[in-house]
Order: sequence, then C-alpha cells, then structure tokens
Amino acid sequence: MPPPIFTPPRMYVLKDVWERPQAARCAERLAASWPGVEVRTFTCDTLPDIVVEEGWDHGAKMGTMVHVPPPIPVLGLFRFDRDAIAADVKRMRDAYKGNGSFPFGLAAGDGAFVFFCSSTRNFPVKTLNDVKPCPEHVCRPQWRLHQGRGCPHQCAYCSLGGFLITHVNTEDYIERLADLLAQNPWQKTWLYDDVMDVLTLEPELDTLAPLMRFFERTHDRYLILHTKSDRVHGLIEASAPRNTIIAWSLSGPTQSGRLEPVAGTTESRIEAARQCQQAGMTVRYKFKPIVPIKTWREEAEYTVDLALSRTKPDNLSMTTLMWMDSAELTRCIPEDLLDAESLQAARDAHEEMKDSRVGPYPHAVREQIYRHYLRAIRDRDADVPVTISTESLDMWKHMGRDLGFTPATYVCGCGAGATPNLFKLDTNPWQDAKAARTWKGEPAMPEEG
Ligand code: SF4
Repeated sequence: MPPPIFTPPRMYVLKDVWERPQAARCAERLAASWPGVEVRTFTCDTLPDIVVEEGWDHGAKMGTMVHVPPPIPVLGLFRFDRDAIAADVKRMRDAYKGNGSFPFGLAAGDGAFVFFCSSTRNFPVKTLNDVKPCPEHVCRPQWRLHQGRGCPHQCAYCSLGGFLITHVNTEDYIERLADLLAQNPWQKTWLYDDVMDVLTLEPELDTLAPLMRFFERTHDRYLILHTKSDRVHGLIEASAPRNTIIAWSLSGPTQSGRLEPVAGTTESRIEAARQCQQAGMTVRYKFKPIVPIKTWREEAEYTVDLALSRTKPDNLSMTTLMWMDSAELTRCIPEDLLDAESLQAARDAHEEMKDSRVGPYPHAVREQIYRHYLRAIRDRDADVPVTISTESLDMWKHMGRDLGFTPATYVCGCGAGATPNLFKLDTNPWQDAKAARTWKGEPAMPEEG
C-alpha cells in the first residue's frame, strides 16, 4: 500500500466515534497509517476551545503562508436529527471565545447532503421556483454529497488547509443517501464533495468502496468524485467501477508542481485516470483552475496532448482561476510565475472585477484562454464534449456556438444530469431541480416566496 500523502502530528476523534464499532475501526485504521500521530478525543463541549487553540478559525489561502503545516484530522459522525444538531451547534457557538469562523454545524454532524444552487448577492435565489441560471455563475442546481471539509494538497489559491473534518459513519450515511436518491429521481449524478478531496484518506477511511458498491447497485445513478489525487488503488480494488465517474482537475506541470505541491503531478493524475478507465470507471477532466502562468500556452498543449493520448475522457471542461481579486492573486501566487500581460489586464480591471465571482481576470483574458484550450483539444479530438464551467452568462453568449452548447444543454464534469456517454442534456436542469426534496421528502428550499 502506498504511504499516506501527509502525516499529521495529531488527530482528534469525537468520543462517540469510539462507541460505534464501524466508525472506531475507521479511526484506528487512519491512526495506524500516520506513524507517531497523537490521538486525542474531543466532545462538543471541548471543541470550541480546541478550535481557538489550534487557530482553525482563521484560515488563509495557503499560498500566503510561509510554512503550510499538514491539516489536523477531526473525525466525527454525520447525524440526521436536526433538533439535536441545532442544540449542539448553539452550545458550541455560545462557548466559542474566538473571533473568526469555523463550521460548527459540520462538526456537529450536519451537512451530509446540501442542496446547491447558484445564488449571488446580485442574483439571490430564495425559493425552488426562483432556481434559474445565475448570470454571474452558471452552474447546475443539485444535491451535493459531503464527507467533511479540508484537504492536504496545499494548493496556493485554496484556503481549505488547517483542519480536515471527516465523518466516519459510512453505513448510516449510505442508509440516508438511499432515501435521498429515492426522493430525487430527477438527479442522476451525485458529486461527492466539493470542499475536500475525498481520495486523500483512502483506502484507510474505506468510505469510497462502499459508496461505489452502493451506486453500482442503483444501476442508473452515478457517483462523481472530483480530485487532484493520484491515489486510486483503493478505488480499483473496490471492484465496483460501473457507476463511478472520476473528474480530475488537471493542470500543467508548472502549476501542479509549484502551486499544487502535495497533489498528484500532471503526469501522475493522467496515469491514475488511465488506470481507472482501464478498470471500468468513467474519466473526465476539468482544466480547473487554469492559472495563466508564463508558459500557460505551451503547458496547455502538453497537458491536453498527454491526457487525450493516454485516456479517452467522457467530457472536458475549463475554468480559469477565480474567486479572488487581483491583489489577492499576487498575495497567494508569486508574481514572477504569472503571465505579465494577463496579470496587467487583471490589475487594469481591478475595479470592474473585484466583486465578481469570475475575477480576477477580465472577460477578454478568460475567453482567450478558453479558445486556446478549445483549439488544442479540437486539434486532437473532434468529438469530445468541451464546456466552460462556473462561467458567466456573458461568456456563454460569446462561446456557446463554438462549444456547441447552451447553458441548458451542456454536459459537464459534475452536473446533475451528465451521465456517462452523453453529448447533450435532454431535459432542462433548472426545471428538473424544482423537484428537489430532502431525504424525508420535504422541498429542498421553500417552494414559493
Ligand atoms: S485539491 Fe482542491 S480542496 Fe485540495 S487544496 Fe487543492 S484546491 Fe483545495
């Protein structure tokens, strides 16, 4: 078995985990995989002080830090009793003496399943009837599945370091998940976590193999894993590949080596994808986030070439670096690494882009990058579906015809209806999502305002 990709000095385990045999075995396996790790037990009463002592309430983009320590694992249990969770969260928030923020709800066992729909300050969505494409951020409404929060990959532009909450009661989770799937026949694909890289604790955690087997038994629903990891041996050994889709975030060698230092390299991610494809899983790539470094054009050609020559992806998508303004960009990424012209354009557009979901790079820079990737892909593969992801409606107006899609028809890495081998969606994803129900059968959001 390959060694773990990070070794934390200590880990915290919720007291109740030790009382559940399956969960306790997970905790013991993880502890055994990290030589020398100190195992501490916590409760809802002690967590608020631990958060302050550990500094988990003041996260930062990891590229802004001189030294990035490995995240400290926090093992807990998902719960499905809203009242009990709310009482514990209130107790923890009342006891918390810090002045930052921490996901106490998640730590208390909330948030296993979250209904996501794009909602921004300018385009808020408050009811299921309001669900429609957000002009600032086109992304599909859907239930998203969570395991926790945090990641050991140390990507410079990401702030999910410090702690790594992961819940370990997979059997209970799958039971409730079966209810959620039954209530939402419209949702065909299920993204398993967008705030942690779930491959990084496998196979010791042993959550993905049971989930893969569960999805295979459904026949028509698909698990989507989104990763930058090359740690796939546990997935292959699960021997249940048919209903699993893996979407790799793929970047060129300089970006993966310098800005994503603990994640897989460009080459190792593609090799992992090849192995998964050979084992029967569906493979997709997201060129995301594309950081316009000095050599981005050549590295785009190299990466597209390697990915398309070694594997046959189901679809491809593209997103430039987003979620920050131009000042934060150079705080977390060394300026001497960045393409000077694109950086200058971001600085010139600072006022226009500073509150935008798609900033720091202005439209023209982003479109130029997407068109370069699209050409590189089409030179090598005339047919594979290619889309833009989490982009503006305006970008869709400029590029939709060349991509061959509209916001309602594109197939992407993790959208709710994007089953394998599909070239276009045949139902409208915003209409489909109006039927979203919780695992208990209640509307996922209020139906009327
Ligand atoms: S792989 Fe994703 S979650 Fe992990 S550090 Fe990088 S950006 Fe953050």
